[in-house]
Amino acid sequence: MNNHETRWGLIGASTIASQWMIGAIRAQEGHSITSVLSTDASRGADFAASHEVGSSTTSLSEMLNDQPVDAVYISTTNEKHYDQAMAAISAGKHVMCEKPLAMNSRDASEMVKAAEKAGVVFATNHHLRNAGSHLAIKELIRSGRLGSVRSIRIFHAVMLPPQLQGWRINNASAGGGVIPDIVVHDADTVRFHLDEDPKEVVAMESSGVMGRGVEDSAMSVWTMPSGIMVQTHESFTHPFATTGFEVHGDKGSVIARNVMTQQPIGEIILRNADGERLVQFSDHNLYERSMGMFAAAINGEGTPSASGIDGVKSLAVAEAVKQAATSGRRITVDYGGV
Ligand code: NDP
Repeated sequence: MNNHETRWGLIGASTIASQWMIGAIRAQEGHSITSVLSTDASRGADFAASHEVGSSTTSLSEMLNDQPVDAVYISTTNEKHYDQAMAAISAGKHVMCEKPLAMNSRDASEMVKAAEKAGVVFATNHHLRNAGSHLAIKELIRSGRLGSVRSIRIFHAVMLPPQLQGWRINNASAGGGVIPDIVVHDADTVRFHLDEDPKEVVAMESSGVMGRGVEDSAMSVWTMPSGIMVQTHESFTHPFATTGFEVHGDKGSVIARNVMTQQPIGEIILRNADGERLVQFSDHNLYERSMGMFAAAINGEGTPSASGIDGVKSLAVAEAVKQAATSGRRITVDYGGV
């Protein structure tokens, strides 16, 4: 094996691996996928065959100790991430872990600390900060084109596609619900743009349109240490809403539509005293960029696009939103000292 060869084990025969991450791994020079782990032998074998992955296993220990694997991509249901990541880290593997990193931010924080101690690269798969649209919006904020930012509004109400209407809508113990699923992405996107994290949140949630025992919609308001306010709307039940992201400053506003997505699409309008103009942005693949930065970090070049700490912080915000929604109180976000 040369320095640049990385052999991956897929922990989880998941939709996201099929749709995006297998392609993103294979887009990196010298990266290959040697094995997939599934709890079900025949699903694992079918998954391996349909994606041309060399082998499948139902044993995590076998994947980590007996198979040629340098890095793992964890995309199982959320309650499994912690144990699987800790085992992979102790076996010396680099870890790209899906969001939310764990069922609570305390566990997520332990995962990050363990990876630091073991000297392996650990990242969170927050894809949105890799989007050409968000990179362009960040540049507008950074360059001062919007002036002093006063507020952000996030529109992340979607219609959950039928193939994803499993554990997400009825299984709290697997990490279902729109808050762990989508609020984490919104929190990370705000952190990416503002380089700060919410101090306090208020929120409400609802259930029953699609969700059974978990929330299928949430709205929240966050206050940032700088005084900026953030308003968010997440849902699984909105077929025609389309997503959006707005940043409002005293010199200009960004109104972006269809940019809280997996695809490199959308439209950004910059509105200021001169009127409105369309902002151009790159249409590269979000997941390939995320994986490219992870691959570079393995080779000692730079850091992953979203680190483990980014994943801990986004989860802490989601926990606070959940607590605010269920208690009806204003909640101070607890980052656990991270
Ligand atoms: P899936 O429901 O597709 O897969 C999760 C697990 O469900 C799999 O590991 C698999 O178990 C099991 N499973 C898959 N297909 C079947 C089936 N037909 N019957 C029974 N069980 C099945 O989840 P997603 O791909 O939607 O999400 C996985 C993780 O990725 C989550 O943590 C989620 O939050 C995250 N995610 C992240 C996204 C991002 O953009 N960053 C986007 C989408 C999801 P087994 O492995 O044991 O076979």
